[in-house]
Order: sequence, then structure tokens, then C-alpha cells
Amino acid sequence: MAMVEGVFQIREPTFDKNYGLGLGMYLIADGEATLVDSGIAASPSNCILPYLRGTDVSRLSTVINTHGHEDHVGGNWELKVKFDPKVAIHRLDAPWAEDPDLFFKEFFAQYPQYLPPTEEVRSTVYSERGKGCRVDAKLEDGDVLNAGSGNLRVVHTPGHSPGSICLYDQDRRILFSGDAFQGRGINTTAYPDIPMYIDLQAYMGSLKRISQMAVDYMFMAHEFKPFKSMVLSGDEVRILISESIKIVKEVEAEILRLIEAKPFDLLDLAKKIRERFAGPGISTQALGSVEAHLKKLYFEGKVELIERGGKKKVRML
Ligand SMILES: [Zn+2]
Repeated sequence: MAMVEGVFQIREPTFDKNYGLGLGMYLIADGEATLVDSGIAASPSNCILPYLRGTDVSRLSTVINTHGHEDHVGGNWELKVKFDPKVAIHRLDAPWAEDPDLFFKEFFAQYPQYLPPTEEVRSTVYSERGKGCRVDAKLEDGDVLNAGSGNLRVVHTPGHSPGSICLYDQDRRILFSGDAFQGRGINTTAYPDIPMYIDLQAYMGSLKRISQMAVDYMFMAHEFKPFKSMVLSGDEVRILISESIKIVKEVEAEILRLIEAKPFDLLDLAKKIRERFAGPGISTQALGSVEAHLKKLYFEGKVELIERGGKKKVRML
């Protein structure tokens, strides 16, 4: 589907089916093509290669990953074997793109005491993640890459992951934002969750930076609430940014309200926050975001860590 001239969205069908959530990749094509994100391991055969066959693209010259999570780098290996494109990702997320074990350990197995990964999680993540693939270009903020007839500027927007980037087409005021800005969280009723950020100060800084840029179109990798579309334009871009900021403040107020009443450990607090803003249960994402809030509050001198009944808890100062 052509979004604007020369920019096409490719949608991974199994994400809609399995999670009730879109997963979008973007092809910028003008003879040679650049792909923004490679989806999951099955995406090349599910949707990328069939899509390319229907175009006049002669060569896939570059694959740029917006960050190193499994549903953005999964197709790298197969695309590398078929087309030998240059694979580019921000320097800080490159180790995850190259090493699936490192990614699993540092992401899905990062809370062994609260959420040890089940066999089901392990096999799902590894099958979506696919094989590791060498990174050819480790990107930095300000790098400029050719794409189609124009170019894309790398805007480092950390917070969701250390090396999350946006790609900015200045001439057409298009921003490819991956998962960098989460709105009020992914818009699916099957797996609702709170917005996912691991570094709150960085996330807010990235939102501020993008709010000052001229952006007419935002092409995201999933649908983020309040929208049920991955492509936003005009005022929708501003709304997504302001809702992303608003929910951070709401979550923080709720965390402070809860720990004012009694000390909490990370697990119980993350469950409460997730239930209040998304749905019951716990996830790595919710643990990560709530921990990011606690780190911020700790450094601001608003909370302290104590031991209660063999558990580390957070108490109001
Ligand atoms: Zn992500």
C-alpha cells in the first residue's frame, strides 16, 4: 500500500492474527529500495518478498532497523542471504541485532526473580527473532542515509530501548518512528499493556525533541492508543506525542499514590499499574516501565529502597 509517493507499508499478517496488533515495515523505493525494519523471522517469506515481487524494485540496498527488539530485526538474516543489503541500526542496539541469545538474556530474561521466562515465551521469541545477522553500519544521531530518491536523517530517540531511532525525511516531513513513541500503549485488546520505556528521562527527552520538529506524517511500527492506525498525519502526530507524555505523568502519579500508602516491591507495583492502565497480569514490558519510574523517583530523592520480609521494597521519603 503506497502511503505517500514512493513509500509503501508492508504489514506482517501473523501479528494481526496472533496479537490483534499490526506490525508495519516501510519500503522506500525508487529503483533501489530501503526497508525500514524487517519484522519477524517469517516476514521475508510472509510478506516482504511477495511484496517486492509485485514492484519494479531492482535491488534491496539497505535495511535500517529502528531498534533491536525481535519484531524489528527478525527478517535481517534472510534478507541478507537473499539480497545482501547493508544492515544498519543504532550502535547501542546493534549487539541485540547480532546476537539473539544476548537479546533474550537482557530483555525477556531480565527479571528472573519476578518473571522467569517460560518455555512458551522462549520458543515464541526465538522463532520470531530468527538468526543473528551482522550489522554493517552502526548508526549515530545525525547520520544521513540515502533512501529512494531522497535521504533519511537518523534521530536518536532513546527511552523505549537504548538505541531506538527515528528516521526523518526532511523534504517530505515524514518521520519513521518505530516504537519510539508509545502513546497510551499498544492498541490491542488481546495483549494490552502500558507504554514501554526503560529510561524515563531519555523517553521524555525524545518526546520533547520530536515535538519541536516539523512532522506531517508519522509512520509507526504498531498501532498505539488512542489510534488504531500505524500511520498518523497532521494533528494526530501532535495528539500521539501529547498522549505519550500525559500517560507517563498519570502512571507516575498513581505510583506515588500507591507507595504513599505502603511500601511496594517492583512486582506488586507493576501488577497494580498494569491492571489500572492496561489489564491484569504481568509482563516484562510493565516491569521495565515501572522500574524506570522508580529509578527516576529514587534519583529525585522521593523514594528509598528498604528490606521487608526478605524483599526489596520501595518506600516514600
Ligand atoms: Zn520495541
